[in-house]
Amino acid sequence: MKCLRNWLLVLICAAGSVPAIAQLPAALIPEPREIEVLEGSFRLSQSTGLRADKALARTADLLGDYLTATYGLRLKGGAAGKNTIRLVVDRNAGDEAYTLRVGEDGVTIAGSPAGVFYGTQTLRQLIGQTNDGLAVPYVFITDGPRFGYRGLMLDCGRYFYPVEFVKQYIDLMASYKLNRFHWHLTEDAGWRVEIKKYPELTRIGAWRGSTQRGPDPVRDQDRMPHGGFYTQEQIRDVVRYAADRNVTIVPEVDLPGHTMSVLAAYPELSCTGGPFAVPTTWGIKEDVLCIGNERTIAFVEDVLTELAELFPGGLIHIGGDEAPKRRWHECPKCQALIAQKGLKDEHGLQSYFIHHLQRFAASKGREIMGWDEILEGGLAPGATVMSWRGEQGGIEAARHGNPVVMAPNHYFYFDYYQSKDLAAEPFNIWGYVPLDWVYSYEPYGRELTPEQCRNIRGVQANVWCEFIHDEDKVLYMAYPRVLALSEICWTPAAKRDYGGFVRRLPERLHELDRRGVVFRIPEPLGIDRAEVRGNRVVVALEPLVRDARIYYTTDGSDPMVYGKLYTGQIDVPLAFDGVNIQCVVRLPSGRSSAIYKVTPREKE
Ligand SMILES: [Zn+2]
Repeated sequence: MKCLRNWLLVLICAAGSVPAIAQLPAALIPEPREIEVLEGSFRLSQSTGLRADKALARTADLLGDYLTATYGLRLKGGAAGKNTIRLVVDRNAGDEAYTLRVGEDGVTIAGSPAGVFYGTQTLRQLIGQTNDGLAVPYVFITDGPRFGYRGLMLDCGRYFYPVEFVKQYIDLMASYKLNRFHWHLTEDAGWRVEIKKYPELTRIGAWRGSTQRGPDPVRDQDRMPHGGFYTQEQIRDVVRYAADRNVTIVPEVDLPGHTMSVLAAYPELSCTGGPFAVPTTWGIKEDVLCIGNERTIAFVEDVLTELAELFPGGLIHIGGDEAPKRRWHECPKCQALIAQKGLKDEHGLQSYFIHHLQRFAASKGREIMGWDEILEGGLAPGATVMSWRGEQGGIEAARHGNPVVMAPNHYFYFDYYQSKDLAAEPFNIWGYVPLDWVYSYEPYGRELTPEQCRNIRGVQANVWCEFIHDEDKVLYMAYPRVLALSEICWTPAAKRDYGGFVRRLPERLHELDRRGVVFRIPEPLGIDRAEVRGNRVVVALEPLVRDARIYYTTDGSDPMVYGKLYTGQIDVPLAFDGVNIQCVVRLPSGRSSAIYKVTPREKE
C-alpha cells in the first residue's frame, strides 16, 4: 500500500505544480524499509560531482563506472556544492544499513560501507530519463536488510562456467542486494577448483567425454568433451570482485557423496578401489568417499586447508547430501571404523565424518554449512543447515539451535519450470516454481517460536545445472525470480506485497533488458482474465516490461509472424473452438517472449 501511495503522490505532485523536470516514479526492487517520495527531481549531468569518504573509494569507482558505461557521464571527483553525489561513512549505522537523501542539496548516501554500496544500488534504480535529461526523484530512504544471509547458488560442478560469467552473475545478484554467492564447485560430473596438493583432481576430475542434454541418459548424450576449472589465481580474483560488491563467497565441495570426479582421479579414496570415470549422466551414484580410509581423512583436511586460504568468508559448504550407504555397508575399512568408534550404523558414520569436518574447519577459523542430510545421525554443533528438501530440516535444525538457511526446493530451485506450458519453456529437470509462488514464501514458519526464528539466518535460491548448459539459460532460469528472492531476503515482512512488486517490475525488467540479460519475459497481465460475453471474447493485456509491445492473433495463427500490435482491449467474436487468442511480448531490445495463450477468467 505504501508503494501505491508513493505513486499517487508522484501523480499529485506532477499535476499540482510545474516541476522543472518531469517527476519520476520510485520503482525499487527490493522495496526499501522506509521511502518517502518528495516533490522535485535532482538533475544528473556531466557537471555533477562525486565525492566519497576514503573507505568508500571502491564503491564510488563502481558507481562512476556504471554511470559512464550506461549514460556516458563522467562525474567529477572531489567536487563540492549542491550538484554533488556524496558517499559518507556513518559509524552509527547498522550492518549493511544506509540512508539515501535526494533533494535540493544534492544526493547523500550515508551508512556502513556495505550499506553505502546498497545505497548506490538504490540510486542506480532511481535514475530515470526525462525529456530534460537524466534525473533522480527527490526521496528520503531509510533502509537495511531483513536477513543477513541473502544467497544465490550456481552449479559450476555439473557444468563449467568461465570466470567472466561468474562475475556477471555476482554483479547482477549484488544489484538486488543479495550478499552470499554459493559456488557449487564440485560434483560427480566435474571438480572445478585447483587444489595444489592434488593436481589430478583438475587434470582428470575436471573433464568428461560427454554431457547428457535431455531426459534419456543414453540417447541424449552430446558426445562432446566438456570441462574446465578455476585456478587459485582466478579464484582470488573472483573473491576480490565479489568483495567489492559486498558479496561473500560460500565455496562448496560436496562430500562424501557426489565425488565421482574425485574417485576418477584418486580411486584409492573409494571403498572398492575402482577404477572410475567422470560420469556423463546425472543422478545419485553408488560410489562415495571411503570414510574408513585414513587417506580420505587426510585428503578432505588438505582440501579444506587450501579452501580456507582461498576464501576469506566464514562459511565453507561441505555438501553432505545424497551419499548412499551401500558401499560403506560392504567395506571392511568402513565397518572397522564403525566398530572402533562405537557408531550405530552407516548413518552414524556419515555423522562422524561431518563432525570431523566441522572440528577441522573450526581449527582453521571456519564454520561449516551442509545440506539438510547433515541432520541424519546427529547434527554437528554450530553447523549451518541449508534446508532444501522442503523446510522440515530447517525447522528441526532451528529448534536444535543451529543456524539455518532456507532453500526449500519447491520455492527456490530455480532450475524448476516457470510455466506449466512446457512447450514454451526450455527443457529442464522437473518442478514448477512460478514467480508469484516464489514471492509468496515466508521464512518464519508458524511452527517456530520467535526465539527459534532467530536461528533462520536467511534464504537462498539454487540454480542446478543438470540441464542448463548455456549462460543465457542460466539467466533465463534465474530472472526475474531472483527479484522475488531479493525482496523476501531484504524487505520487512509487513511491507511485502505482490501487487506492489508487480507494479515495480516493469521498470526493473526494462533495465535488465537494457543490460542485455536474457530473463524470462513474464506473461502480460490479464492473460488469464479473458471474459466471454455471449459470442464475444474481451481481454485487456498489459506487458510487465516497460516499453514492451504485445503482438497478438485471434485465430490460432503464429503471433510471432502474423501478430497485430496490441493498442487496447481486444474484443473479437468467440472462435468456434473457444478462446483462441495468442500473443508474444517484444522487448525494446527486440527480443521476444515465447507464445502465450490467453485463457478465460476462472469463475470465482
Ligand atoms: Zn570404505
